[in-house]
This record gives sequence, C-alpha cells and structure tokens, in this order.
Amino acid sequence: MPPVFRFAPSPNGFLHLGHAYSALLNFERARETGGRLLLRIEDIDATRCRPDYETAIYEDLAWLGISWETPARRQSEHLADYRAALDKLSALGLVYPAFESRAEIARLIAAREVDGPWPRDPDGAPLYPGDAKSLSAGERERLITSGAPYALRLDMAAACRRVAGLTWNELGAGPDGERGIVSARPEAWGDVILARKETPTSYHLSVVVDDAHQGVSEIVRGQDLFHATSVHRLLQILLGLAEPAYRHHALIRDGEGRKLSKSSRSTGLRELRAAGATPAGIRRSVGLG
Ligand code: GLU
Repeated sequence: MPPVFRFAPSPNGFLHLGHAYSALLNFERARETGGRLLLRIEDIDATRCRPDYETAIYEDLAWLGISWETPARRQSEHLADYRAALDKLSALGLVYPAFESRAEIARLIAAREVDGPWPRDPDGAPLYPGDAKSLSAGERERLITSGAPYALRLDMAAACRRVAGLTWNELGAGPDGERGIVSARPEAWGDVILARKETPTSYHLSVVVDDAHQGVSEIVRGQDLFHATSVHRLLQILLGLAEPAYRHHALIRDGEGRKLSKSSRSTGLRELRAAGATPAGIRRSVGLG
C-alpha cells in the first residue's frame, strides 16, 4: 500500500510561509515515496472559519504547484464520526461534562495560584483546575436538564491507567531534538476538552479520527504540534485506531525569531505573491530551493 500523507490547514486566515513549507514537505514526501497526498480542511470552529479562506487555501496551494487528491475532506461534514468516537470514550467511562465558563476557570486558576504556580500544559496554558469530574451523577443530570452549557473533558488520570508504555515513532525531530521512539506524556495536558460547548468535537478528537479514517500513514506537520502527539497517541489507543508515523518539522520564523501568525502580513502567501514573489522564490525562502 502506498504511504498516505495529508496537509490539514484550518480556514481561519490566509496561508503564510510556514504553511507553504509544511504543504511542500508533504507534497515532496508523497512524490519521493510514490505516496498519496490528501488535503483536509479543519473547519470545526464555525466562529473563526470562513469560506473565502478555504477558497484561498485551494488557490494558494495550486499556485505553489502542489496537487492533492480531491475532494478535500471538510471536518464540518463529519461531525457524526466524531460523535461516534466520543460515545466510545464515554462508554469506557473516560468522559465527563464540565460546566465552568471561561471566566470561572480563570477565577479558579487565580485562586489556586495563591499557593504557588498552577501547572501548565506544554503550550503554556494552565491545566483544567475544576472539579467537575467529582460531581455526582444526579448533580450532572440536574445541570444538563437545566440547560447549563458544558464541555466534555477527558478524564486523563483514568485514561492513562488504561495504557502503559505509550510511544510514537518520530521520523523528524521534536523541539529538543527528540527522534526515534519517543515516550508520550499525555498527562502533561490534564483533562483536555474533547467536545466544546459550541462545537461537538475538538482539534484532538477530530484529528485522530480523520487521520485513521483517511488511512494517513505518515503525519508531516510543524513542531508546534509535537507535544500534542502524546494526546493523539493516547486517543488512538483508546479508540483502537492505527498508529501513524510522525515527522515534525522545524517552524519557519520571522526576523525576530517568532512563530509566524496568520495575521502577519509580511509573510502571507497572498501578500508575497502580490509583491511579485514566484512559487520558486517561495520554495527558496523556506529552504527548499
Ligand atoms: N489544523 C491544524 C493547524 O492548522 C494542523 C493539524 C495537524 O496537522 O495535525 O494548525
């Protein structure tokens, strides 16, 4: 079976040089290995994703000379798949509703930080500080029937008790040079959200469901997602999904060494193109000349 690669942008802004690098690496790996390249539009966040950004993704990738199998998979069209995965995790007793608002969570963290720093996840965000996990079944029922909005969280401690020796095969490198068989540390993320109040899924859940569904065998993506791989491997094991290999690549940074953002105009593909850049010039500027 030929290897399967995917580029999976979110249509919440225009693509920049960092996306170009990631897409070109995927395209090249697929070509080198006689593999397939899929495109996945990660558009579960209806408040931030826009159809014009999606159209721009197709245009910008085609302009770069990248081709992919069509049609692209749009996550917003597959919510039932994520629901099924969530049901499976719920049936294992690993999911609980958490009712706190963002403001309440911020207050809880501030209160806990009186006694010293509250732990943070590998992205620097505070771990979930609430105790919704210990609400009684009756209290949960009462809140749900009263119409209180809630997110669904993974009971990380219970999930970790079900798996041992979780690893992945890193073909690229982590931020500290990790490569080869890497030990996963999903507990560093705390009780991650699996489904949001306003979206019946989350990045972590949809990405593992889709990678498995699409038969992706090698995931080529930026090092900013290296640590998230721990959560992805945990969910793959819990859901009985196949294990892909991972190839994390260095991030393209701006002149000040910062990660590029979708709002930074100077590195947007559209701006560069309007200023006369060519696809070959873009390749050179990301070191693929
Ligand atoms: N949609 C994610 C992003 O745009 C990438 C997901 C992935 O490659 O796993 O950052």
